[in-house]
Amino acid sequence: MSTTPKTRFEDDVRRLIPALDEYRGSDLLVTSPIDGSELATLRNDTVVGVTQKIDRAMVAFRSWREVPAPRRGELVRRLGEALRQNKEALARLVTIECGKILEEGRGEVQEMIDICDFAVGLSRQLYGLTIASERPNHVMQENWLPLGPVAIISAFNFPVAVWSWNAALALVCGDPCLWKPSHSTPLTALAVQSLFEEVAEGFADAPKGLSQVVIGTHEQGNVLVEDHRVPLVSATGSTRMGRIVGQKIAARFGRALLELGGNNAIIVTPSADLGVAIPSILFGSVGTAGQRCTTTRRVIAHRSHFDQIFETLKKVYLQIGDSKVGDPLAQGTLVGPLINKQAFDDMQAALDKARRDAIEVVGGTRTLTESGGWYVKPALVKMRRQTEIVHDETFAPLTYVLPYDSLEEALEIHNDVPQGLSSAIMTTDVREAEAFKRFSDCGIANVNIGTSGAEIGGAFGGEKETGGGRESGSDSWRAYMRRQTSTTYFGSEKPSLAQGIKFEL
Ligand code: NAD
Repeated sequence: MSTTPKTRFEDDVRRLIPALDEYRGSDLLVTSPIDGSELATLRNDTVVGVTQKIDRAMVAFRSWREVPAPRRGELVRRLGEALRQNKEALARLVTIECGKILEEGRGEVQEMIDICDFAVGLSRQLYGLTIASERPNHVMQENWLPLGPVAIISAFNFPVAVWSWNAALALVCGDPCLWKPSHSTPLTALAVQSLFEEVAEGFADAPKGLSQVVIGTHEQGNVLVEDHRVPLVSATGSTRMGRIVGQKIAARFGRALLELGGNNAIIVTPSADLGVAIPSILFGSVGTAGQRCTTTRRVIAHRSHFDQIFETLKKVYLQIGDSKVGDPLAQGTLVGPLINKQAFDDMQAALDKARRDAIEVVGGTRTLTESGGWYVKPALVKMRRQTEIVHDETFAPLTYVLPYDSLEEALEIHNDVPQGLSSAIMTTDVREAEAFKRFSDCGIANVNIGTSGAEIGGAFGGEKETGGGRESGSDSWRAYMRRQTSTTYFGSEKPSLAQGIKFEL
């Protein structure tokens, strides 16, 4: 009989990871940000272990690339079904492991289901072009071919959706996947892996090693980054990580898909409908406890209503801080915990710097200190101008409110940060809306919609220090395949050369 006392979330973990004992070890302590309780202690992969997983992925690639794409789509369709059946349990585990409120956990799993559906349709639409040749009896074609094993390095804040954005596409494109989740959220990855294995088990065309999880930190991630057999590394996380990883991949001429930090702003013009603007700012700023890459970090408000907007937001921030921060599993909670103490310390350091120039600071203090988690009241900072600290991404619910006088100035303030992920304007003036779309330097530019909460149908990603990657919808699938141009001559005369070159003996 076991003498170890049962932990609070043990049933939630075991329900989705029946083989948990196989992963147990003493390297990686996984805790819940909800209350700091232990969820599991895991064994990290060794360097040799990661290399062997790449070997296995290479073997899987040889057979998977031969499976017709629509048939590959059928595997992803079945994965989508398994996710539907396990949506609630997986959403709960997402909440337990990363701390986002259950409603957002459900949204994250729904995003996985949506991208599976998208990828199933895509599996019949991996089109190339037929191009007019300048030579007689020649045909020129573009062929799209499977690429090889894809490494997916993911961040803690979207512990499962980011994998699916990559994996659903990679799988229909003919590529095996190697997933290195954040060391803070390995259990949700193992849960998804279990679901995948169950589906693959009943699918005769799926080779062993088609999807594998690598447990560990940046060290294990680095093995994937440096191995030349991994043609594409899709890495989601901080700009600091992307700078290291991007350079290493470039040095071996690999392909990098980088999804890094954001510093997203909403411009609120004089014509804005505040009934639309205020809720959008709130969800964008305090949703997911400010721990989304697309979180609204800056509100750039026209001076004519700068004070009014600040006061309106202040009222709601105080209300949220007093009654809506708490256990993310509990109904009514809007703001869960920060991921860890480091996140809290980083937020406090940013607030200390901001205070030097701020007109007013609301919230930002720790709350629910007895809980064992790092809960914080969302912070709202009224600034005179965009100071140095506003240029940083602080991964917490910390929103700066800045004034502007002309739209030109607003756009300048908007673009004057190193990141370029998501942006929004609140306006009822079509001219302002169109000017904004043209001049925002971000990968996402919304009108009367906040900065966070993208749909999977569009290509997701950003410019500048956000890394330039695009994943999920539109034609993002092209990153997971290699393009080949092929010219065929079907005539019987002596072949002619391009550009009319004569090469006679
Ligand atoms: P992080 O950079 O600390 O870690 C992300 C992942 O990278 C983890 O799996 C980590 O182990 C791995 N990693 C770190 N250094 C590495 C290295 N040198 N080699 C290989 N792997 C390495 O990020 P985090 O704290 O987990 O997540 C928060 C950050 O992620 C924020 O900056 C946020 O904006 C960003 N993010 C971006 C997107 C996007 O789509 N643009 C989405 C989610 C999160």
